[in-house]
Parts: sequence; structure tokens; C-alpha cells
Amino acid sequence: MTSRSGKLIIVAGPSGTGKGTVENAVMEKFPEIQFSVSVTTRPQRSYEVEGQHYFFISKAEFLERIERNELVEWQEVYSKNGHFYGTLRSYVDSALEQGQQLLIDIDIKGGINLKKAFPDNSISIFIEPPSVEALEERLINRNTDSPEQIRIRLDRMPEEMQLGKQFDYTIVNSELNEAVSAFTEILEKEIYQQQRSI
Ligand code: 5GP
Repeated sequence: MTSRSGKLIIVAGPSGTGKGTVENAVMEKFPEIQFSVSVTTRPQRSYEVEGQHYFFISKAEFLERIERNELVEWQEVYSKNGHFYGTLRSYVDSALEQGQQLLIDIDIKGGINLKKAFPDNSISIFIEPPSVEALEERLINRNTDSPEQIRIRLDRMPEEMQLGKQFDYTIVNSELNEAVSAFTEILEKEIYQQQRSI
């Protein structure tokens, strides 16, 4: 497969950093970037569309897919709920073969594994909050986590920031427009300038 020119844009970060908002803004700016739809065992939320946000499957089906080697990587992301998430090999392979850019929203450990699996075809970006205090404020305002869950997320931050060092780039998301500009610069440098020089 020598003609591969597509790139995996791997995006991870502690939860509550607003990475989803940054990703949506970037994808609006670059409509040619495709979102990688993962498989998950977690229940579908009311606003989510099957095949657009995730493919929602049972745990039995998830395990079968692991068995059939259909997942490039997978993680049990929130162990307390026992939900599984995985990146589909079919998505990644067809995007790379077609020279398509694929944005992959993934948990931090999964991101590191994916980067190792595709060292030459990926750009990994870690999105971090400006501070622990800012993250705490966002998690409180988001109003989706109990105080205990917020405490667990905050306690996890030092380890997550450490893991974040393994990513190619770090963007501090203090202000949305600035974060989107920083993301755009990375894409320009890593993808679009290289394409122009071919
Ligand atoms: P949520 O349930 O809020 O959609 O996502 C929970 C976490 O799972 C997020 O950190 C998200 O990035 C991560 N995630 C989504 N898809 C995948 C995947 O395919 N593999 C891994 N390892 N994590 C994923």
C-alpha cells in the first residue's frame, strides 16, 4: 500500500476540556475531514444517531468483533460502567487507502495505541484544559457528573497530563477560537503543505 496519503488525526484529552467543541469547529472548517465512527457498548443518548456518532452494539457483539480482529484498538473507558469503545479497522483502512483524512476522537490510552499502530500515517493532538481549576469549573457547569465523579476526573488529571506528553502536539483550550487556530495550523503544516509540495 504505497499510495497511502491519508492521515489519521488522533484527538484525545481529559474529559471536560471541550475537545468535542474544538473538533466540531475544525470539521466545519475542513469539510473534507471525515469523522471516524467507533463501536461502543454504552447506551445511545437521545440526540445521537446510529452510524453517525457511534455504532451501538452489545457487549457480546463487541467481543465477537475483537475476536474477528475488526478493531484496531479498543478500551474499557469508564471501568465503573464497564463500557467498551473501539476503532473500526475498516474505517481506518479505507480512509487511508483513499487518501482521506480521518478525525478520531478517542480516550488517551487508545490514542497512544493508535499512534503506535500508525506511526507514519497519524498526527496526534492532545487537548488540555488551561488548569485543574478551569477543568473543575467546566465539569461543574456541564452538570453531567456527580461531585464524586468530578473528584475522580480531577484526581486522574496529573496521570493524564503525563500521558499527554506522548502526543505529537498539545493544544491548551482556554479560548475556542485560539484552540481552533492552533489546530488549523497543525493541519496546514502536517497535511496541506505536504500535499501541495507533492
Ligand atoms: P462518550 O461516551 O462521551 O461518547 O465517550 C467516552 C470516551 O470514549 C471519550 O473519551 C471518547 O474519546 C472515547 N472513545 C470514543 N470512541 C473511542 C474508540 O473507538 N476507542 C477508544 N479507545 N476510545 C474511544
